[in-house]
Amino acid sequence: MNELKEKFKELFSQKATIELRSPGRVNLIGEHTDYNDGFVFPAAINLEIKGVAKPRNDSKINVFSMDFNELVSFELSEELKKERNWSDYIKGVINELKNVGEVKRGADIVFKSNLPVGSGLSSSAAFEVINALLFSKINDINLSPVDIALLCQKAENNFVGVNCGIMDQFAVALGKNDSAIFLDTKTLDYEIVPLNMNEYKIIISNTNKPRELSSSAYNERRKQCEKAVEILKKNGYKINSLRDVKSKDLSKIKKLLPEINFKRVKHVVEENERVLKSVNLLKDGKIKDFGKLLNQSHTSLKNFYEVSCKELDILVEEALKIEGTIGSRMTGAGFGGCTVSIVKEQSINNFIEIVGKKYYERTGLKPDFYVSEAVNGAEIFQIKEEE
Ligand code: ADP
Ligand code: MG
Repeated sequence: MNELKEKFKELFSQKATIELRSPGRVNLIGEHTDYNDGFVFPAAINLEIKGVAKPRNDSKINVFSMDFNELVSFELSEELKKERNWSDYIKGVINELKNVGEVKRGADIVFKSNLPVGSGLSSSAAFEVINALLFSKINDINLSPVDIALLCQKAENNFVGVNCGIMDQFAVALGKNDSAIFLDTKTLDYEIVPLNMNEYKIIISNTNKPRELSSSAYNERRKQCEKAVEILKKNGYKINSLRDVKSKDLSKIKKLLPEINFKRVKHVVEENERVLKSVNLLKDGKIKDFGKLLNQSHTSLKNFYEVSCKELDILVEEALKIEGTIGSRMTGAGFGGCTVSIVKEQSINNFIEIVGKKYYERTGLKPDFYVSEAVNGAEIFQIKEEE
């Protein structure tokens, strides 16, 4: 925070009055289910964007990102246009806020983050939510954390143009210390589930592979799922989304769908069931069985949903060779990004050393490892006078 406050003073010749934090998220299980009205099980993590700000008496915004080393300035009163850079996330949020209230007051802001950008830990949602918290607060727009999540999803869909589901923003806005969020993306019912991990820890491993294919493949998968729903409806299935398909019907359904669509459906239907099982296993403290479901999830994402890649597979394979790893899978949209593994605390050093070495030997890429804690969702504080 001190570095941020100093930068703020240097740029704006005054003291910041507001402090903000907004975490990234890791999805433990339930991948590619959120846009199918399904279940997800993410947690907010201790990698986060921090910000300091001071409201202005006019409608100007001056925002500096220490991560991009760039100052962006714009007027709230003007029509906001897409620039294809990081300021789009702020503008998108402001546009959505303008739909629910009066947004007249600008701010001077500095952001800095230790959350890797573009690695599937949802820096975009963290960045949207931190801005939504700030601009709703200083413009007296009263929004609940769920409202904030929905508003930020709209910002990403409508302004940035990424057709994401609700999971990321929800986890960032509603995370709880030492807990994961079991979320029904259809109803937005959710339950905070304590992560009783005993002697186990969550390790996130970053492939550090640039994600190239991910957005086109993401849209393609969405279409394949929609197509499957359309065909099943025509065949008399009373469903609105793949959420409504039961696994006992999969063998019947197989005959109705092209092979590729069936593979997508099989993943989504079984993945939803794995989420439900995972929540119960964690509640019962059956962490090893939870780990097995992570492994099954990865196999399904690799073979049926086909969104893994060589780098993710190698990370998972090497992780599972380490004694003390009880589960590992790709997390996020795929084609790069990160894996999530459940590892015995005493094996962590070994894991990082050996998986890091083997991954580098096999891919030529250096991975990053984050031993993750589940943390509270995004927060805004008033800075006390004496500080
Ligand atoms: P992911 O959400 O997986 O990290 P995305 O491509 O969805 O990747 O979002 C990354 C984008 O979010 C960045 O390119 C940038 O525009 C914005 N962003 C994230 N963190 C910051 C930050 N600290 N400062 C400015 N912009 C950020
Ligand atoms: Mg994102």
